Amino acid sequence: MLRNRIFYTFKPLIPRSLQIFIRRKIAARKREKYASVWPIDPASSKAPAGWQGWPDGKKFAVVLSHDVDNQKGHDRVHRLAKIELERGFRSSINFVPERYKVSPSLLEELRSKGFQLCVHGLNHDGKLFFSKKIFNQRAVRINDYLTKWHAEGFTSPSMLHNKDWLHDLKINHSISTFDTDPFEPQPDGSRTIFPYWVQNGSKQKGYVELPYTLPQDHLLYVILQEKNINIWKLKLDWIAEHGGMALLNTHSDYMGFDPGVIGREEYPVDYYADLLDYIQNNYKDQYWHALPRDLARFWQTHRKSASDVRRRASGDRRQVPGDRRQVSDDRRQAIEDRRQAPGNRRQVSGDRRQDQKRQ
Ligand SMILES: [Zn+2]
Repeated sequence: MLRNRIFYTFKPLIPRSLQIFIRRKIAARKREKYASVWPIDPASSKAPAGWQGWPDGKKFAVVLSHDVDNQKGHDRVHRLAKIELERGFRSSINFVPERYKVSPSLLEELRSKGFQLCVHGLNHDGKLFFSKKIFNQRAVRINDYLTKWHAEGFTSPSMLHNKDWLHDLKINHSISTFDTDPFEPQPDGSRTIFPYWVQNGSKQKGYVELPYTLPQDHLLYVILQEKNINIWKLKLDWIAEHGGMALLNTHSDYMGFDPGVIGREEYPVDYYADLLDYIQNNYKDQYWHALPRDLARFWQTHRKSASDVRRRASGDRRQVPGDRRQVSDDRRQAIEDRRQAPGNRRQVSGDRRQDQKRQ
C-alpha cells in the first residue's frame, strides 16, 4: 500500500507523541465506523469444513504470544514469563533479531522453561514487504535466525503481510493476520477465529496461519485508552461460545510492571494477569492451552484428516498410489485449501458492501 510506504519512510522523522496523537484521532473515527465488525465480526465464527473439534473435546483453544519490539521489552521478558509460569501458562516470545541485543542466555532460559521462540521480522522498520527484492534479501537472514533459535514461527511487525511471500521462510506457522482489526495499517481481516492453511501454489506445501483474535494491547490501552479488560473478556467469551481459537498477542514493551510508574505508552501488567485469571476461573478444564507451534501441528493433522473424511464421504476410493486419480485428488485438495483460505474475503479495505449497508 502506497500510504504505508510513505508512512514508514517518514515515520522516523515524526515525533512519537505526534504519531500517537494522530493514531488516536483516526482510531476514534474508525471505532464508530466499524462498530458492527469490531471487536466482534459475527461472520468470523463459522468453523471450517470437516471440523472435528479441539483435542480432548475441549471447547476452545487459548494461545498466547508476545512480540518484543524494543530493548525495553526484551529486558522485561523475565517478569512477563514469571506471571505466566505462576499460573501454568506458556507462550511464544517473538524477538526482533537485528533491532536490539537479544541475549542468548535469555533464549536458552525461556526454551528450558517450556516457552517457544519466534522471529518477529528482522529489524522492524516497516519495510520488509516494500518489494520482493527487499523481502528476499531479508528472508535469507530471517531463515538463519529461525535455524539458530530453533524457531518454527514468524510474527510480522505491525501485522504487515504478504502471505505468498512467507512461503520463502522456513516456518510451520505465522502470526501475521487477525480475524478483525480495522485499526491496523493493512486492515484486511481474515474473518475467521480458526487457524487456516496457506497453500504454496499447487504443491502440497505451505504453513498454518494463526490469526490473532483478541485485540492487541497497544491498540486497546495506548490508542483507544481503555481502562479495563472488558473488551478482552467480551471477545474471549464470544470465541469460547463459538469454539474458536482465542489468540492474544501482547507486548512486554507496553506493560507497566511497577504500579504507580506507568509510562505514557504503557498499561498496568495486572490487566494481562487478570485476563489469565479470568480464563482459568471461568473456563476451568474447558480450553486447550497450546503453544502456537503445537497448535499449527495439530491443524496440519486436522487438515489431512478432514480431507480424508471428505474423500470418504464422496465415495472416492483410491487404492493405487501415484496413479492419475491420486494426482487429480491432490489438485482437488489444493483447490479446497484455497477455497477454505479466508484471504480473499476482504473485510475492511475496499469492502464497499459493508460501507453501503451502514449508510
Ligand atoms: Zn512488533
